[in-house]
Formats: sequence, C-alpha cells, structure tokens
Amino acid sequence: MPKLYDAYIFDLDGTVYLGDALLPTAGPTITRLRELGRRTVFLSNNPTHTREEYAAKLTRLGLPTPPTDVINSSLVMAHFLQQRMPGARLFVVGEKPLCDVLVAAGFTLTEDPRQTDAVIASFDRTFVYRKLQIAFDAIRAGARFFATNSDRYCPVPGGGEPDAAAMIAAIEACTAKKVEAVVGKPSSYMIEAILGVLGLPPERCIITGDRLETDVAMGLNCGMAVALTLTGATDAATLAASPIKPTYVLRQLADLLPENAQKCDDAAGTPRRGRGGRREPSDQRQRRAISCRGRDR
Ligand SMILES: [Mg+2]
Repeated sequence: MPKLYDAYIFDLDGTVYLGDALLPTAGPTITRLRELGRRTVFLSNNPTHTREEYAAKLTRLGLPTPPTDVINSSLVMAHFLQQRMPGARLFVVGEKPLCDVLVAAGFTLTEDPRQTDAVIASFDRTFVYRKLQIAFDAIRAGARFFATNSDRYCPVPGGGEPDAAAMIAAIEACTAKKVEAVVGKPSSYMIEAILGVLGLPPERCIITGDRLETDVAMGLNCGMAVALTLTGATDAATLAASPIKPTYVLRQLADLLPENAQKCDDAAGTPRRGRGGRREPSDQRQRRAISCRGRDR
C-alpha cells in the first residue's frame, strides 16, 4: 500500500488522461493529494505541445495547474542544449511547438545541412522524405544528433500514433550514426529537471506512469518510488513478462491514496475487526466491497 509522499510526479498520456478525457479517478485523486498539502507536477515525453498548453488542458479538465508545474521533453531539450551548445543552429525533425521552445531558448533553426550544428529528432506527424534528406546530409557533414524522446508510439483513444522512435530509427538507419542523447524519459536529464522544479530528494517523491520502459525505469534508476498504473500502455500480462518491477501497481489512480488502498484491501477480503477483535457482519463487508468496485469504473 502506498504511503503519503511529499511530491507526486505524474505522467500525463495514459496516466492522468487519454485524449481529451481524464482517466477514471484521476481528478479526485490529484485534487485530494493537493488538499493533503502534497505537491503535484506533471511530465510528458510528448513535445508536440508546450507546457502552457498542457497546463491549460489540465486546468480545463478541472485540475488548475500553472505551466511551471509541467515539464516536457522540449523544455528538457532546450536546457540540455543551452548547457552544451548555446546559440547552436538546429535542424528540427519535429513539430512547431518544439521549434517555438527552441527559438525562445535562443537557438536558430535552419534547413541548410551545411549550416546545421545539431539535428534534433522528435515526435513529428509532419515527417516527410525531405526532412530525412536534410538530417542525413547534416549528420554526414558533421552535425550532432540528439532526440527529445524515444517512445515508439503515443497512445490515443482507439490506438496510437508513431512517435519519435520512428524518426530516430529512420535517421540512424540511413546515417549509421546512433543518436547521441535522448533527453526525455527515462533519461537522467528529465529526472534532474523534475527534481530541480521540486527542490526535493528523490526518496521524498513518487512517480506514477503507465510505461515500464520510461516512467518506471526512470524512477527506479534514481531511487524513487514508482507506481505503475494499468490504465494506459501496460497491461497485467506485459508487466508479468517484464524484468522491470514498479514499487506499486495501480488499477486506477485512486489506489495511490493510502486511505483508499486501506478500504480496498479490506474489500478484497481482509477481515476488519472492531473493538475486541470482533469481525463485522458479512453484509457490511459486502457493501464496502461493492463501493470499492464501483470506483473502478
Ligand atoms: Mg504515458
């Protein structure tokens, strides 16, 4: 059963919402954690929206959130490049929101392979052969090669969209050059950015996400408690077959709250004893079991 942590880090897609709808129990759970004085921050590997857009979406869905409490891979990429290649000229295989963040961070965008200091691969639904040609020419001319994230696909209602892994693979395949760094989950660059925002050591935080190879791996790598929610990309069979084991497994976000976990443990059959060790009547246990199952929906 999870204890209460000082800060809760939430993945977004597949964890807090799917498409334009909050996942069951996400709203009340995050609201309750805030009422309990816990910090909540959100992270996404998806660079196709700005942190302002994510904050506006969460606010619209009933979870008022400032942009400063959202971290995505575009922001981490901007920080990464500012530290290593300030003012560099970039060719971006990505969408406008990522380009805007990089320009705002002082970088120049170019489509001239000879003028390109680094190629940035990303989730790009506008990917075409011309972009691959520019990336190919730039890297062969000596440009560095980085990526925002390495997700294979982004879950959307009814399926998924090919994500940055496909763009990275295309560039690696034709250049025979491996991407030098991927700054999104599960990299240490992402976790450093989060801990910088929180100002807390990892042992006082818990990260909750729906992907073993990103959310869970990143938390475990930095010594943080990790909760895997089965509401997104990972099902019970995938979890059972994986060597990556989260600290907690949640059927829904409400299981993060110790108060709910206690009730549902009881409902699952642990006899609840009143004063003097008496078992409560079976009809009372049954009613509580029904109310816990009701929250699953
Ligand atoms: Mg996710």
